[in-house]
Amino acid sequence: MRLVLLGPPGAGKGTQSARLKEKYHIPQLSTGDMLRAAVKAATPAGLAAKAIMDRGSLVPDETVVGIVADRIAAPDAKGGFILDGFPRTVRQAEALAEMLGAMNLDLDAVIELKVDEAALLARIAARVEETQASGGTVRADDTPKAFKTRLEASRAETAPGADFYAKKAILKTVDGMAPVDAVAAAIGQLLDGAARKVRRA
Ligand code: AMP
Repeated sequence: MRLVLLGPPGAGKGTQSARLKEKYHIPQLSTGDMLRAAVKAATPAGLAAKAIMDRGSLVPDETVVGIVADRIAAPDAKGGFILDGFPRTVRQAEALAEMLGAMNLDLDAVIELKVDEAALLARIAARVEETQASGGTVRADDTPKAFKTRLEASRAETAPGADFYAKKAILKTVDGMAPVDAVAAAIGQLLDGAARKVRRA
């Protein structure tokens, strides 16, 4: 199963991807996590990305596409993967199609989590509070200012990425405002349908 989960920051992509990873035994490939690891390891890509990420803007397409190309070619991604946070631009969506095409592969499903922005701001505020209460470190890009920039980037670039899949008629949308279990159930239903289609093909 090769999946893409789309949606603005805070929509629950990470939470749902983690569940899908358990259910389908495929890796969750989060470009945000990969970039944060690169920042921590102080790799050239990480060093170049840090300031961009901290202010909530998008890292250049070439950087992210390079990271994803390496990752989906890794042995543990042979049986499938969940892309969480990628593609975020039309250019990235095109690059993904090229990469998969070169490996004679295709996506089984692209699922977009729809949420309203006011709810996202409340969610992110709650995430910050919970992290602070448990003594954890708040992500530099979870500040209200950076989060606003992330939402703007999502509106300007990620939404056209969803249109790319809508035009190919493989985009499915799920109400991301529902409780976590209900969102997971809705995604499960869509994917069971996609799996049946793959088996018939
Ligand atoms: P996330 O953990 O998905 O919220 O991503 C955190 C930050 O990493 C984003 O605000 C961007 O700066 C960067 N990032 C993650 N994925 C991408 C991507 N596909 N394209 C560009 N920047 C990305």
